[in-house]
Amino acid sequence: MVEASQLPEFVFNEATVRERWDLEPFLEGCAARGLSRASLWGDEIDKVGLKEARRMLARTGISTFGFNRAGPLLGAGTAGRTECLDRARRAVDMAAELAADHVLVFSGGLMEGSRDLSGARAQTEEALGELLDHARTVGMTLALEPLHPMVAGDRAVILSLSHANALCERLGGGIGIVADAYHIWWDERLEAELARAGAAGRILGFHVSDWLVPTRHVLRDRGMMGDGIIDLAGMWRQVQAAGYAGPVEIEIFSDRWWAEDPDLVLDTALARCRSIFS
Ligand code: ZN
Repeated sequence: MVEASQLPEFVFNEATVRERWDLEPFLEGCAARGLSRASLWGDEIDKVGLKEARRMLARTGISTFGFNRAGPLLGAGTAGRTECLDRARRAVDMAAELAADHVLVFSGGLMEGSRDLSGARAQTEEALGELLDHARTVGMTLALEPLHPMVAGDRAVILSLSHANALCERLGGGIGIVADAYHIWWDERLEAELARAGAAGRILGFHVSDWLVPTRHVLRDRGMMGDGIIDLAGMWRQVQAAGYAGPVEIEIFSDRWWAEDPDLVLDTALARCRSIFS
């Protein structure tokens, strides 16, 4: 007998519609589609205040999956680093207040004028260790999301699953990995590193969008699932084979989709996901 294919849970990252919708319509849009969790951004929470955000979450019955984000961790000089770390700790606290599943950590890129990538990586690891000490005290899990190597110049120094896995292994419990298809699809070690992360139970999330050819902007031109060249269904099989049983998170940073009616964006994304991830 052939078993009916089962759909995963779908979660929207608020960034997908943030240009047109504030927090409340976003949560209502998720609830109207029968979703129960969403991934939120601290700057959107700040606009309404934490108390009001929690009220909106309660009213719509939506709970927080990912919280974006703690970082940048890389600051200039001792004072800059201390300030970054303090801010990151406050983001972890906010994630805990919102009972998020995990908080995304954003390393930030090289300091202006610097060419010391390995130094920046060492500094990031040190800051991660300190942030992790704090996160453990408030019971919040940190998530490393390796970003595409194209953003190494200005946004991130953790650029592969291999690096993220190695960091998690050195740092111990309380930290895991979010696998974002857009950032990692090119990696020839993809399957092996997903399996490595999965074997340690550290895959915390799976983010989807698509890689368009040509890509006009590395930050603001992600594709709708199915419009690009990523084998999303194949990657989902690998993520599941690695033991991940969590939701598929839709996260599309795109000028093209930000210009559309958010209702259409959510409906289109869900329809695409239901056919790709069935
Ligand atoms: Zn992501």
